[in-house]
Amino acid sequence: MALKALDIYKLLPKTNCKECGDPTCLTFAMKLASGKGDLEKCPYLDENARRVLGASTRPPIQKVKIGVGERSFTVGEEFVLFRHEKTFYHPPGIMLGVTDTMDPSAITERVLQVRDEVMVRVGMDLRLNGIAIRNESRDPGKFADAVNAVESVADLPEVLIPDNPASLEAGLSICGHYRPLIHAADHNNYKDFCALAKKYGAGLVIRAPSLEGLSELSTLCAGEGVTALLFDLSSPSPSEYLRSATLARQYAITRTPPPMGYPVYCDTACFPDSGAALVLGVLKYGSVIVTDHLSASMKKALLTLRQNIYTDPQKPIQITPGLYRVGNPGKDAPVLLTVNFSLTYFTLQGYLEAARVPCFMLIADTEGMSVLTSVAAGKLNETVVKESLTRFGVDKEVSHRTLIIPGYAAPLSGRIEEETGWKVLVGPRDAAEIAEFLEKEWKPAHA
Ligand code: SF4
Repeated sequence: MALKALDIYKLLPKTNCKECGDPTCLTFAMKLASGKGDLEKCPYLDENARRVLGASTRPPIQKVKIGVGERSFTVGEEFVLFRHEKTFYHPPGIMLGVTDTMDPSAITERVLQVRDEVMVRVGMDLRLNGIAIRNESRDPGKFADAVNAVESVADLPEVLIPDNPASLEAGLSICGHYRPLIHAADHNNYKDFCALAKKYGAGLVIRAPSLEGLSELSTLCAGEGVTALLFDLSSPSPSEYLRSATLARQYAITRTPPPMGYPVYCDTACFPDSGAALVLGVLKYGSVIVTDHLSASMKKALLTLRQNIYTDPQKPIQITPGLYRVGNPGKDAPVLLTVNFSLTYFTLQGYLEAARVPCFMLIADTEGMSVLTSVAAGKLNETVVKESLTRFGVDKEVSHRTLIIPGYAAPLSGRIEEETGWKVLVGPRDAAEIAEFLEKEWKPAHA
């Protein structure tokens, strides 16, 4: 069971020496209790404290890093069962599959897709994460060639899926030092796989017919010195995946034995419907998800879904309040007020750019709330609008005094006019109608 801060504090030296980087032992205890502290930072723990705290203060799900360099990513280290309880921290790595029976040019094409294709959404770059290499030929030499073909194009995180130990060694001899993920150890081969994972510092996927088997195998691997493990829960049955992934997370979060605190690996090739499997993997605890087929539309949907699930539900993605330019606006350009919820900002900006109307966007600080919510919660009001106009010097940028407010903020129009002295035009509720609105309503007379 997880210990509370005061229980942890009782086991600390209580000298407040600050060597851990925290001002007091109590602060250090609080960090450990929230899973954010590092036990190793206190050099004065006795053996008993180290043993008790070691088990109860590590994150309930083991952190595993995959790859090296810019595109490396971390999985695990999650603390809750449902995202609304706190947040999910580490989005799953989506790995595009290649096989060693593919033509090298086809491998290159897929690697370039992962390396170069970026989808920008609410100001964030969304991409696939890496390449999974399958040893379909069962031949170590061909497997090594495929790994080489991937390596020669990009430094991307890799999953090695060898058919046999010789293929694994051949693959690792090429990319072993770039921290690939190895798939997969079982009860028969775990000693050999652990030895290689240890030698290269690689993460290891383990598989067993049941959760109990995985739990037992994880203990055996830990005994071999390998704890950067992932549970392979891929299954031909989506309901079975859902059941086992949910149970594993429940056991992990509640720290109920048997040991289940490891991230989940999900290979969609096992499922009858890879699209449904991808969605299921993102929604329900997949940490590394492998797919061989990903259409452009599915990719877009999947990256959007992943971004939404791994956004802190208590902290919307925000844009810095300010005065933003669309195109090259002059003194007579319209000024459109909106909120600093990123999705609202980028949606409106997209429609304004498409409309080719140079203008100013005045972004008020509404703590990341949408227009409707911020009006209801009083976060968008006449005082905030007045402050924004003054703080961002809007009157110096334009020669007129007309402000276009979002349709959902219409109830504020009178109060904004009174408070600011600016004339208010109520814009549409739907950003998609902004071009038509400006064409009809924005007359030179306003300027
Ligand atoms: Fe306390 Fe250890 Fe931190 Fe010193 S290093 S303040 S003893 S927790």
